[in-house]
Amino acid sequence: MKTKRILVTGGAGFLGSHLCDRLTEQGHDVICLDNYFTGRKKNVEHLMGLKNFELMRHDVALPIYLEVDQIYNLACPASPVHYQYNAVKTIKTSVLGAINVLGLAKRVKARVLQASTSEVYGDPHEHPQKESYWGNVNPIGLRSCYDEGKRVAETLFFDYHRMNSVDIRVIRIFNTYGPRMHPNDGRVVSNFIVQALKGNDITIYGDGAQTRSFCFADDLIEGMMRLMNTENITGPVNVGNPGEFTIKQLAEEVITLTGSKSKIIYKPLPSDDPRQRKPDICLAKEKLGWEPVVPLKVGLVKTIEYFKDNLE
Ligand code: NAD
Ligand code: UDP
Repeated sequence: MKTKRILVTGGAGFLGSHLCDRLTEQGHDVICLDNYFTGRKKNVEHLMGLKNFELMRHDVALPIYLEVDQIYNLACPASPVHYQYNAVKTIKTSVLGAINVLGLAKRVKARVLQASTSEVYGDPHEHPQKESYWGNVNPIGLRSCYDEGKRVAETLFFDYHRMNSVDIRVIRIFNTYGPRMHPNDGRVVSNFIVQALKGNDITIYGDGAQTRSFCFADDLIEGMMRLMNTENITGPVNVGNPGEFTIKQLAEEVITLTGSKSKIIYKPLPSDDPRQRKPDICLAKEKLGWEPVVPLKVGLVKTIEYFKDNLE
């Protein structure tokens, strides 16, 4: 394989750091760009001595001048707690970030992949969600800075593709978990594991009947790299694990696997929290030959092992 110069924005985050691992292993020259809002140098410190790895502190909402062959645009806080912390900044990150990576891709003729999300489907009326579904998104709610920001980013990707022939890939990522999530990330899998390991109460929001489909990080990164390196496809392509669980089932599984004595408590459901979510992955199977291979229990055990050594 010919080695490439590859930019990973958000590369010091949870998913970005796993992607940097895989790309450097393959011998590519990797530039990891991050402003460390939710990412950490710790996630990539094992790569810092490598000749083919470079770390760059930069905000994706500002123009980027580099020479690269491929761009993975992952920069954006992904946890509701963090993306709502500064909602306006989240929109700027998604929208200006997309404009900046697309402008860069156009100038240097790079291929550019957007990390989009199942949130573009909102609280879906179609189940499971296919790529053809346009979604049910509140434009003015607390989640809108993220959901609508990601939707505009998709629009920008397709407009740059139609107008300027930019070589784009759009992946719609469904809930993904694994080692290197921040202990204070705030998303459900890391919250429950950290709570269970510390013996704190497990906080279910609402009645716990809402569903999510959880994909292990390694599976997700494999799907993302396959999409980037497949010809004649723009996406959007759903990548996620179609196994669907209620949040209550997840809490019970985490308690079983950690052997924790934590109790489940119930807190108010945040507004616009989607009731159900499950990807239709037929397109990824057909076009990328991809499907997830790590069952929830196996992925949870690996993630629990990570958090045992990384509680803060
Ligand atoms: P994360 O919060 O761990 O990673 C995001 C990274 O982007 C962090 O390193 C953060 O510091 C960086 N960042 C944020 N704003 C930035 C800015 N303005 N400039 C430069 N860097 C910035 O979250 P993650 O789970 O690794 O998510 C990575 C990407 O995948 C995000 O775009 C997210 O929306 C998308 N995604 C993730 C999931 C999931 O379940 N993990 C689901 C759907 C979509
Ligand atoms: N959730 C929960 N307890 C927590 C964190 C999250 O019950 O401590 C719920 C949340 O309300 C949502 C689901 O778990 O219904 C997934 O939340 P997450 O923030 O991980 O991602 P989302 O898919 O909502 O963006």
